[in-house]
Amino acid sequence: MPTSLPVVNLAEAKFECIYGRGCDGICCQNGRPGVYPDEVQRIDANLSKFLPGLRPEGRKVIEKGGFLSGRRKDGLPMLRVVGGWCVFFNQGCVLHKVGAAEGDKYQYKPAACSLFPLAKTAGGDWYVRQKGVEGEEWNLFCLDPQTSPLPAAVSLQDEIQLAARYTAEDAAALQ
Ligand code: SF4
Repeated sequence: MPTSLPVVNLAEAKFECIYGRGCDGICCQNGRPGVYPDEVQRIDANLSKFLPGLRPEGRKVIEKGGFLSGRRKDGLPMLRVVGGWCVFFNQGCVLHKVGAAEGDKYQYKPAACSLFPLAKTAGGDWYVRQKGVEGEEWNLFCLDPQTSPLPAAVSLQDEIQLAARYTAEDAAALQ
């Protein structure tokens, strides 16, 4: 479905996720996304669905001390990491897998993960994270536009739709 969401560098940005085709999910390795209060509540309320699919060490850590670390990012609590990976990672994101099985892959994932590689500039504009753009600090293969000719406008349609939805929800909340 086309969207009119403005994404400042969409015309030139390239992005191709190669998870399972040479990438083991590096964005979930020490990714430590910040999570909003409603996301924490949603994960907490559905935790029993996720626990069976986790790595044993991830499950143990969560059962002992919860899924949030003591660290914060942009004022938000961050997901914990165990063994170098997000506690919810087990050959893919367990929050994603359970959500997808229920019909909405985004319903349990933190927004930061669902939107990746979309983000907002300091001025509040949506953009595609790319090497050399907005001081990108994460040296990931997939953020280098030289590694794939796939236009982000094609590969990121779901993420752009989601960003449009969040933008509309934010606007509605302000009215
Ligand atoms: S919540 Fe899921 S997508 Fe986000 S870092 Fe953890 S495993 Fe990866």
